Amino acid sequence: MLPKFAYFKGEIVPYEQAKVGVATHAFNYGTGAFGGLRAYWNAQEEQLYLFRPFDHFHRFLNSARLLLMEPKLTEDDLTAITVELLRKEGFRQNAYVRPLAYKSDEVIGVRLHDLQDEITIFSIPFDKYVKNDTGAHVTFSSWRRVDDNMIPARGKITGTYINSAFIKTDASNAGFDEALVLNVDGHLSEGSAMNFFMVRDGILLTPPVTDNILEGITRRTILELAENELDIKVRERSIDRTEVYLAEEIFLTGTAAQVTAVTRVDHRKIGSGEMGPVTERLRTLFEQAALGKNPTYKKWNYPVYE
Ligand code: PMP
Repeated sequence: MLPKFAYFKGEIVPYEQAKVGVATHAFNYGTGAFGGLRAYWNAQEEQLYLFRPFDHFHRFLNSARLLLMEPKLTEDDLTAITVELLRKEGFRQNAYVRPLAYKSDEVIGVRLHDLQDEITIFSIPFDKYVKNDTGAHVTFSSWRRVDDNMIPARGKITGTYINSAFIKTDASNAGFDEALVLNVDGHLSEGSAMNFFMVRDGILLTPPVTDNILEGITRRTILELAENELDIKVRERSIDRTEVYLAEEIFLTGTAAQVTAVTRVDHRKIGSGEMGPVTERLRTLFEQAALGKNPTYKKWNYPVYE
């Protein structure tokens, strides 16, 4: 389903009018930076809640700055535009919002400097991303995650997603739901578009932001929920491949993937082979918080409707 509207060149226009020319720099060279956030429909309150828009737009603007863009809009401006866009779409269901900053000149020449940039935003209705999200089977990808000195994985840069696309498609063609990818140092980084968590010896582990991961907002949310709500130690440290095989529980986190339980890796059962108790608890906590149903975490919910 196509969006009805888009924010394009400074205003909200019918989606059909939000078009770029084929010579556009970002289209040719991948010189764009993007974001992805969700709006959750709370049917009881008849309210649509954007989840952590300030944090998402902060990362979005940082990703743009890595590409030497100088966005004139702030996190608050972007939130206000998104609210207007969602109101025009009139969603009464979960939705996904995609902001994109891109080098807009229609010129030939590989570079980051001396180019104009533009911001566009659109939104579509959105539910599940990983179908098998209570029992995914994943594999270790034969690809490696881009290194910070190649293309920074901490930024959400359009060109980088070729790396994610190789990872995802080869896993899918081999019959897996997702893939885990090692970085050039041989440590685990993340999935194709989600961060990685595992429980080992009763400790919740996730790779640090220096292991070529995207600095996920859901990852940050889960770390906070685990620390506040669960009686479990949490550590950010590098993870080896064979530790993953020995995990008691594994789950992947992302705006699209939410909290996806992984129950098999490369045909090996993880723990009991069923979703584990830590994963289940964090899934519920995350869902309640995202829907605006947990008063402690209301700070993450930004209402769209008055
Ligand atoms: N890693 C990658 C490569 C991603 O594309 C995403 C999705 N944005 C994530 C992790 C999860 O990040 P977030 O929780 O902010 O959506």
